[in-house]
Amino acid sequence: MKKKYLISLSGGKDSTAVALFMLERRDKSDLVFNYFDTGWEHPSVYSYLDYLETSLKITINRIGGITFEELCIKERYIPNYTARFCTRILKHEKSDAEIKKYIAAGFNPIVVTGVRRAESPSRKNYQSHRIYNGVKILQPIAYWTVEEVFAIHKKHNIKHNPLYDKGWSRVGCYPCIFAKQSEIGLLEPWAIQRIRKLENKVSEIRGVPVTFFKEDIDSKIRRSSGFNALGLDLGCLNPYGQCE
Ligand code: SF4
Repeated sequence: MKKKYLISLSGGKDSTAVALFMLERRDKSDLVFNYFDTGWEHPSVYSYLDYLETSLKITINRIGGITFEELCIKERYIPNYTARFCTRILKHEKSDAEIKKYIAAGFNPIVVTGVRRAESPSRKNYQSHRIYNGVKILQPIAYWTVEEVFAIHKKHNIKHNPLYDKGWSRVGCYPCIFAKQSEIGLLEPWAIQRIRKLENKVSEIRGVPVTFFKEDIDSKIRRSSGFNALGLDLGCLNPYGQCE
């Protein structure tokens, strides 16, 4: 069966590095670039994906569906550390559907992810490949350092997402429910307002206060320390290495 390498791009540095790595080694026609849109992103992610498409002469499939906000309203809740339904529904299930689509079309789909051992202690034993649910998962940059990640950008003359220059350590939902305390101060006013509106809406539907972080956004902003103040990587990495 002909192989198809499914690369999920987030607009972040690691998935971009993986895309560049695969473009160096495989024919473009064997690569599929997918972006699983949560609808809760920073606008610069969309423009960065446009930039990658133009610069690398690739097509990135934008896979939408229910948005983060719609999901919270439907579930009458905001996901948290113990109820991480956002990654499962907004990314994992969409990845599964893509894999099934390629199997049904007679291909052998191989998922390629940008996970790295150096990202966090929980990922320190990651290998360069593994099997999940019978599907081969390639993790070609598992042993890379962050310097190597940026080096491959430079080698291909590809800029990194500008959010890193603003102080963000990850690119994905803006913000992620697991954002570091140090990143809360970086949030732009419209994003704070968006969280406030979501908290109000879900609280109203549920009839009890529901907060985006462990506390409401205004208390979170006021506090100099709080949930994840140590910047621990509580990430929500799913089996396909999403939510960088
Ligand atoms: S990036 Fe964060 S908020 Fe977004 S889907 Fe992943 S865990 Fe949920």
